[in-house]
Amino acid sequence: MLSGWGRYPRIDCRVVTPRDEGDAAAAVRAAGNSGLIARGNGRSYGDAALNRRATLSMLRFDRLLAFDPETGRLTCEAGVLLSDILDTFVPRGWFPAVTPGTRFVTVGGAIAADVHGKNHHKDGSFVDHVDSLDLLLEDGRVITCGPDREPELFTATRGGMGLTGTILRATLRLRPITTAWIRQETVRAPDLDTIMGLFEESVDWTYTVAWIDCLARSARLGRSLLFRGEHAEIEEVPADRRERPLATPRHRTISVPCDAPPGVLNRWTVAAFNAIYYRLGTPGTAIVGAWPFFYPLDSLLDWNRIYGGAGFVQYQCVLPKPASAVGIRALLEAVARAGRGSFLAVLKLLGKQNELMAFPMEGYTLALDFPANAPTFSFLNELDAIVADHGGRLYLAKDARMGTGLLHRGYPGLAAFRDIRVRWNPAGSFRSLQAERLAL
Ligand SMILES: Cc1cc2nc3c(=O)[nH]c(=O)nc-3n(C[C@H](O)[C@H](O)[C@H](O)COP(=O)(O)OP(=O)(O)OC[C@H]3O[C@@H](n4cnc5c(N)ncnc54)[C@H](O)[C@@H]3O)c2cc1C
Repeated sequence: MLSGWGRYPRIDCRVVTPRDEGDAAAAVRAAGNSGLIARGNGRSYGDAALNRRATLSMLRFDRLLAFDPETGRLTCEAGVLLSDILDTFVPRGWFPAVTPGTRFVTVGGAIAADVHGKNHHKDGSFVDHVDSLDLLLEDGRVITCGPDREPELFTATRGGMGLTGTILRATLRLRPITTAWIRQETVRAPDLDTIMGLFEESVDWTYTVAWIDCLARSARLGRSLLFRGEHAEIEEVPADRRERPLATPRHRTISVPCDAPPGVLNRWTVAAFNAIYYRLGTPGTAIVGAWPFFYPLDSLLDWNRIYGGAGFVQYQCVLPKPASAVGIRALLEAVARAGRGSFLAVLKLLGKQNELMAFPMEGYTLALDFPANAPTFSFLNELDAIVADHGGRLYLAKDARMGTGLLHRGYPGLAAFRDIRVRWNPAGSFRSLQAERLAL
């Protein structure tokens, strides 16, 4: 039984785990018309990395192949986890140029979803820092592509959710750092206008993100905590850590031992959590470890169990900047009115991006979690209408239930993407449950 991180849907899948390129090519050829899809570490939330007939686990493609300490260029296999890159290269003074909110994703999954991080407004998305990748096609050929080599295939592969082929290897550029610490500034925003103003004021900060209390209403609607950060310099690091500034500060993890009983997360528990979290967010500057800054959720292993056995869905949309103030307000009002607050609610200002299947666009993205059940799904249809009316789109890496109407309106590059996909893989062998649901 396989699922994404949201544990919805959960499907009986045949999993194939190739050890090398030859195995992977054989699996792709064997799948033929019945299709298959690559899977990284299953951290997409919905059905993007599932195929009943054949799901190709890439986790054994886990080797670091080459590194140039002059330029920070790393060549690695597609199943390498970001956590492996961090463990190996942070002590050497290098950090991923872009990282999502969990370090337990593979390089292949990060390229296929073209993930964004807290620095999207400054540095773009993950693939903006990829020089080239090797892609296995359905006929067994391996094509090297990049911004200057088969650029069309490269463009369709970024954000292409594994549908243009299976990524075997990639060369990425890491960023130099001098410490494993972050100078973090926390700012309280009592309402939506203030937090949006703060994002605009903070565009020169490398990293920005806000936690938003999506159950707050009326004058408090949109109250948030903004976290902005920069890689700390050695003199900023706590004195007793300056001798080894690149040593990873200790970070504790605990795990959720079992599925939470139904109903633990309800409007009252979430409202209480949100009120406490907002008040505890101490405004001011602190020097914090990179791990808690970038990956606060990773310290609670298996936190997806909190939503119980039926699982949950994450709803992540982005609205164009001119429509964001009105549109985000409408979304938050709908959430607060319905009392369906999520305790993991994130707001972020994204920068410009124009690739075919890119999720980011210049504007505000809002991410909310909800338990997976029928009332949630009919409520999310209401949110879909608001997103569509404001010219927005949903993120495929989080999606498990969107309809084709919203997909078409949100992704104008879809037709061109399909043309490229068919040109390189005419039999359409690369297919996920999500691709079938959305006719991608
Ligand atoms: C706690 C948490 C926080 C997150 N924060 C962010 C965030 O801040 N920003 C963001 O953008 N995303 C975020 N995500 C989503 C996550 O980064 C993406 O879903 C990412 O794609 C997951 O990588 P994975 O290796 O687990 O891939 P999977 O979930 O296994 O697969 C995702 C997609 O990639 C394809 N794929 C995987 N490997 C390959 C390959 N080798 N070749 C071709 N296709 C492949 C799959 O077919 C599928 O379509 C978060 C997820 C979690 C759980």
